[in-house]
Amino acid sequence: MGQVLTDSFNRAIEYVRLSVTDRCDLRCTYCLPPGYRDFSEPEAWLTFDEIERVIRAFTELGVRRVRLTGGEPLTRQQLPELAARLHALPQLEDLSLSTNGMRLKKYAHALRQAGVQRVNISLDSLQAERFASITGGGKLNKVLAGLAAANQAGMSPVKINMVVMKGVNDDEVEDMVQFCIEQGCTLRFIETMPMGDTGRSASGHYLSLEEVRRRLAERFELLPAVMSGGGPARYVRVAGTDLRIGFITPISQHFCASCNRVRLAADGTLYLCLGQDDKFELRPVLRQGIGHEELKDFIRAAIVRKPEKHEFQEQPRKIIRFMSMTGG
Ligand code: SAM
Repeated sequence: MGQVLTDSFNRAIEYVRLSVTDRCDLRCTYCLPPGYRDFSEPEAWLTFDEIERVIRAFTELGVRRVRLTGGEPLTRQQLPELAARLHALPQLEDLSLSTNGMRLKKYAHALRQAGVQRVNISLDSLQAERFASITGGGKLNKVLAGLAAANQAGMSPVKINMVVMKGVNDDEVEDMVQFCIEQGCTLRFIETMPMGDTGRSASGHYLSLEEVRRRLAERFELLPAVMSGGGPARYVRVAGTDLRIGFITPISQHFCASCNRVRLAADGTLYLCLGQDDKFELRPVLRQGIGHEELKDFIRAAIVRKPEKHEFQEQPRKIIRFMSMTGG
């Protein structure tokens, strides 16, 4: 058996969400304020060499899966090159991508060639005007072209992530199910989280996914299902179709006891929990010339400090950083 990286609650940490930039070409209402530009400068970001070093260390310690995220990861120059370098790490079993899809048409093929097997695309509406309004100017046709390109490139599974907001897009959940049946994608519904002022104001539109599931059950026959991938979603399958629907419920039913992940931000900050401030700065130690074994010790020591759980419900005002800074 290979190495296992465990925290002090005996959880095996085998998944890193790797943010390659905090920049984004969209301004989703629940994520970034309109016109927001206060991003970190590229000099602050880990270089590809530094990222490869850190991920190599993680994989030698027991991490098996990495997801490229951001910000919008496809805004980082030469992303396929980084993907290929990570894919070549011998212990890494799964390399995936989360994207808003706007630039996916251009990059899907190169990323697939570089070893990105699967992709999650954020898509909160199938109505062009509403999509533009939720995303601060996003173009639905570009995302749909990106989705088609991912399918053509052979990425699989392609998952659609929809943040469900009461009074904003909750009237579209049935349409989204139908769309994903037609497209052959997996669909995941996500509850709005109170991250940053944007997430907190969007919490006014919070809708428990229990309600969404009840509504869908009136129209579709939902069967229990499993989906590999180790994520926090609980899945059902729509009878008579191949569609799997996942429900990601950080608020109504948190899944911290089985949390298997940490997040590495673009500037090298290692966040141990999405909903807590605990973090370790990797960039200074990398740039001071830390050795490989020392780097592994540093990571081990950080993982021991992973908090037991988030407190989105108990302390909804706690997290001031936006999701795009952490690496969503
Ligand atoms: N730009 C990429 C994308 O769109 O998938 C990756 C980063 S984005 C921050 C990752 C995911 O976080 C998206 O699916 C987005 O909808 C979700 N997200 C951002 N802020 C959120 C919030 N306050 N509550 C729930 N989900 C949020």
